[in-house]
Amino acid sequence: MRTVLSADWVLPVGAPPIRDGAVAIEGGLIAAVGTRDELGSGIEYADAAILPGFVNAHSHLEYAVYAGFGDGLPFAPWILIHVERKARIGAEEMEAIARLGAAECLASGITTVGDCSFKGAAAAACAGLGLRAIVYLEVFGITTEQLETRFDPTRERIAGSLGDLVRLGVSPHAPYTASPDLYEACFELELPVATHLSESPDEDTWMRSGEGPWKPLADGLPPPPGTSGIRLLAARGLLRPGMLAAHCVTVDTEEIALIAEHGVAVAHCPRSNAILGCGTAPLRELLEAGITVGLGTDSPASAPSFDMFEELRAALYLARAREQRPEALTATEALELATLGSARALGLDDEIGSLEPGKRADLAVVSLEGSPFLPWEDPAAAVVLGGSPERVTATLVDGEIRYERGAFDWHELRQNGARARDRLLALPPSRTR
Ligand SMILES: [Zn+2]
Repeated sequence: MRTVLSADWVLPVGAPPIRDGAVAIEGGLIAAVGTRDELGSGIEYADAAILPGFVNAHSHLEYAVYAGFGDGLPFAPWILIHVERKARIGAEEMEAIARLGAAECLASGITTVGDCSFKGAAAAACAGLGLRAIVYLEVFGITTEQLETRFDPTRERIAGSLGDLVRLGVSPHAPYTASPDLYEACFELELPVATHLSESPDEDTWMRSGEGPWKPLADGLPPPPGTSGIRLLAARGLLRPGMLAAHCVTVDTEEIALIAEHGVAVAHCPRSNAILGCGTAPLRELLEAGITVGLGTDSPASAPSFDMFEELRAALYLARAREQRPEALTATEALELATLGSARALGLDDEIGSLEPGKRADLAVVSLEGSPFLPWEDPAAAVVLGGSPERVTATLVDGEIRYERGAFDWHELRQNGARARDRLLALPPSRTR
């Protein structure tokens, strides 16, 4: 069966916007992209734009209810709060949280996530709600032990959720928590690999000198190598094509060249980096070095939401502020980062990331009704500067409506999420007396 959706604008990404545009969907794939005159009007969305679903290049769905924990604290005490609280909940709560996170992504027009998952709960959540995902199971440590004790059992537990929609990856967490041996062993699994690189100045100080605010966190972690994480991995042949690196904030020219040379893709997370006081990644320099860059919301533990529109605006504001020029990132470029750029970063650009015949029918309909951006001038600027989850009318994955404003049942998802957050906030036993 062929379905046609049409709107004031279709933004295919990678091709110019189409006024009075339409998208034809057949068998879960995009059959055609054109004008209403060419394809018919089908289901009409007024005052709206149809765009490729956002691809969230870096998320942690399992932290969907962690908003505001330790806000304003330096990284070391901030992370300790999360570690302590995370230990208070079990697998069932992790899954309830991840389901709420997956729903919030769909509500934000996100159709794919590259999710770094501590417990693997994201897999069932994404499969259940129809959100496309690569779930990178996180491993930590000096030895490769966690691949047997943590990765393998989790992989087995979530096997029923894996398939075409939800795929498996592995995430050696970061060079300060995972040794080069562990990175090497992760690559040997021949799965998609994601990691965190050069997120904060404190991390960099620790890696280079073994000093600074991170010193008290070092228990059980690999010894500081005396060089940055990127240089360490490069020297050991562990920066490899297709690897996805979140953040890359504290990178110098040489490190940018190393990332480019080895074909590593970057997930840019501007809100998370700003809120945690880490800095702003040199987005323009990364792009000009030819690096594949996608956009990620990270998680509400930092960002503090899965709102991709807020992330787009943060990317735009910070790039322009950093470079002191408005053309440092145009709205069109920002939109491309969050769709095709992220799809490339996840290695999925053959299937998703733009509206092209033959690609999967993953798309979002965004209404600009009543906004100051109407009547239309530049539809990309309208969506990037004026969009919000409240303006997402529908989100489709494989041509199926997975989210529809006003018709989505939030009640149970929010209630279970709130119950889990209650547990996270509960006082530890030592402080209840
Ligand atoms: Zn992360």
